[in-house]
Amino acid sequence: MSRSISILGVTGSIGQSTIAVVEEMRGQGQDIRVEAITAGQNLSGLADACRALRPKFAAVADAALLAAAREALVGLGVEVGAGESALEEAGARPADWVMSAIVGAAGLAPTMAAVRRGATVALANKECLVCAGPLFINAAKTHGAQLLPVDSEHNAIFQVLTHPQRVEKLTLTASGGPFRTASREVMSTATPEQACAHPKWNMGRKISVDSATLMNKGLELIEASYLFGFPSDSIDVIVHPQSTIHSLVHYVDGSVLAQMATPDMRIPIAYALAWPDRVPVSTARLDLAALGSLTFEAPDASRFPALGLCRAALDSGAAATTALSAANEVAVEAFLAGQIGFLDICRTVEEALGGLERAESGLIAKSPTSFDQVAAVDRAAREAARRIAGSLAAA
Ligand code: NDP
Repeated sequence: MSRSISILGVTGSIGQSTIAVVEEMRGQGQDIRVEAITAGQNLSGLADACRALRPKFAAVADAALLAAAREALVGLGVEVGAGESALEEAGARPADWVMSAIVGAAGLAPTMAAVRRGATVALANKECLVCAGPLFINAAKTHGAQLLPVDSEHNAIFQVLTHPQRVEKLTLTASGGPFRTASREVMSTATPEQACAHPKWNMGRKISVDSATLMNKGLELIEASYLFGFPSDSIDVIVHPQSTIHSLVHYVDGSVLAQMATPDMRIPIAYALAWPDRVPVSTARLDLAALGSLTFEAPDASRFPALGLCRAALDSGAAATTALSAANEVAVEAFLAGQIGFLDICRTVEEALGGLERAESGLIAKSPTSFDQVAAVDRAAREAARRIAGSLAAA
């Protein structure tokens, strides 16, 4: 294999797993050159990534860090950029394959820069799809970009979606997160550390909190609907604490195809990097006898209202999913900053969406037809969520 790649969000959990896969594939003699990498603010992590990957271009999100970034990367033979335009440049540079692993809606513009030049985009960042769903998918079609889902559930579906026209329904599996068996009382006093202590996956803090509220599964429901083109009532969610089956596709003849693997993000990342081939990856192999049994349970809608909120937003239309994702980002930040409680996250999102639905502007009544409209809905939802989180914090 000979391929040039870029990694947006190289210092994060997915970014680091991508480096591990690249190093392993290079060790097997594959020719993988790195065009561009990006970080938010983590300069030492960016410097480590430059030493490991030898990219041509490295960018940080924070424009004020340009001089510090130049200093941190001096002698590494890399061109340095900072700010939003530099992130977009990283996506626009001519790499065959781009890993989209910035967290949140901040990933949208750089990922779109890759989509617009028809790149193969390995999509870990679910928020950019939830935020701009139909526009994002249409842009990929228009520009001939190939989207390869990296989220383990969507990657699983992608792997077993042999007959898209003959699908009865999809089932997304959920680990249940750290509060799967916790009471509402326990959840009401949960700390950021407890919420981020995921039983199966080691991930960034935002997605860890989303997994604890099950908002992550709701965002994935929206992601699956936009990516694979199925309505919300043909996508189920089931809690599967062992995180061994990563999702299932049910066909019209009663057959159900599932993808199984140990929970390790290097597997979907390697799948996306080698696609349409497969390459060896040194992950722990699935040992079914050691596992003994796989169990399943229905999600508890009363303790985890996020799933219902996401389903309702998906049924309302693309502006509602934009607003939901933006409000959730604000609510999770407020929780991680110790300003609001764990149960206040969903409350903030629900109230922000309710307020926008009632607003006379009708902002979320119809689907955005441009990325500017997406940005306007995103801004309004963030403002609403900040107000609500602020009053919950003061209460
Ligand atoms: P992390 O928080 O670990 O990493 C996020 C990355 O984005 C870092 O490189 C960070 O830089 C960068 N970043 C943060 N804020 C900004 C910003 N405003 N502008 C530009 N870059 C920024 O997240 P994860 O790796 O866990 O997740 C990344 C994405 O992948 C998310 O959308 C998540 O939902 C998705 N995903 C993650 C999975 C996982 O196992 N981790 C599984 C499936 C999907 P810095 O380090 O400098 O802050």
